[in-house]
Amino acid sequence: MRERSSSGGVFSVLADWVLEREGAVFAAGYGPDLRVAHREVDGKEQLDRVRRTKYVQSGMDGVYGAIRDRLAAGRQTLFAGTPCQAEAVRRFLERDGRADRDRLILVDLVCYGAASPGIWEKYVRFLGLRYGGKIRDFEFRDKRGKDNGHTVSWKNGSTQRAYSLYADPYCRLYFQDLILRPSCYECPFCRPERESDFTIGDFWGLERIRPDLDDGMGNSLVIVHSERAERIWREAAGRCLSFECRLEDLLQPRLAAPTPRPAARERFMKWYRLLPFWILLKKYGG
Ligand SMILES: Cc1cc2nc3c(=O)[nH]c(=O)nc-3n(C[C@H](O)[C@H](O)[C@H](O)COP(=O)(O)OP(=O)(O)OC[C@H]3O[C@@H](n4cnc5c(N)ncnc54)[C@H](O)[C@@H]3O)c2cc1C
Repeated sequence: MRERSSSGGVFSVLADWVLEREGAVFAAGYGPDLRVAHREVDGKEQLDRVRRTKYVQSGMDGVYGAIRDRLAAGRQTLFAGTPCQAEAVRRFLERDGRADRDRLILVDLVCYGAASPGIWEKYVRFLGLRYGGKIRDFEFRDKRGKDNGHTVSWKNGSTQRAYSLYADPYCRLYFQDLILRPSCYECPFCRPERESDFTIGDFWGLERIRPDLDDGMGNSLVIVHSERAERIWREAAGRCLSFECRLEDLLQPRLAAPTPRPAARERFMKWYRLLPFWILLKKYGG
């Protein structure tokens, strides 16, 4: 499960708990042309479709209403996504008079920022033209190198390519902070306190406190926010190796402040509107 997950697989541990209780899980997966959107999963065999990180803002069409309907039908319902999406779900249900907190499980991510879906769409099209054929199975955090998922991979036709995350032009734009949504630079959720039930992310700095667990296959941090979440965690955690730690041990930049807006962003966006995409990639993505 860790090999098929971006961090330590804690999302799957929580999703399994819900699915074993005939519940519904809403999480981000790929649709046609690698478009990223939240979708519903109601069986463990479908879970792999929504595993793994995509550094793109995911679409939420139809998700709010579907969550309301599953809760109204009395089902445990888990939503997992960026903290702004989880908060939007919470507020939507509250406004709707359905803050059904007993059955709703909100899982939000430690989040660097969600990137523009328009630029992602252009990148996927660019790869298709450059290498020929449809691009499939794009993995942002491939673990074949046991490098905690710092490898990107994708397929076209019968060919598979894998290379460093930092050599991928799209990821280079992402990690230069050029393509995040404007609101991400002012994100109010970059702190450990949240209104959700669980916050999950990569356990950065694990090697400092538990070097024995750092095997390059990724580890999760999980912050348990509510009493109910604590009860769920006690039941769900039996299937993974977990230990308690101090908050200071798991703090990382995106639990302290949002990604700073780089001075070059305005210039980048100006060139984005003017230049053909491949020239833009060459200029900024190496
Ligand atoms: C845009 C983005 C930025 C992130 N930044 C950080 C960071 O700075 N520090 C950190 O520690 N962790 C970050 N993460 C979280 C981390 O990469 C893992 O997603 C998380 O730890 C869950 O891993 P897992 O092994 O438990 O499960 P996995 O199976 O790897 O993750 C699947 C979960 O991620 C969600 N997800 C995947 N892509 C998206 C998306 N585009 N939008 C919304 N939800 C999505 C799915 O809904 C599902 O809940 C980020 C994730 C995303 C999507």
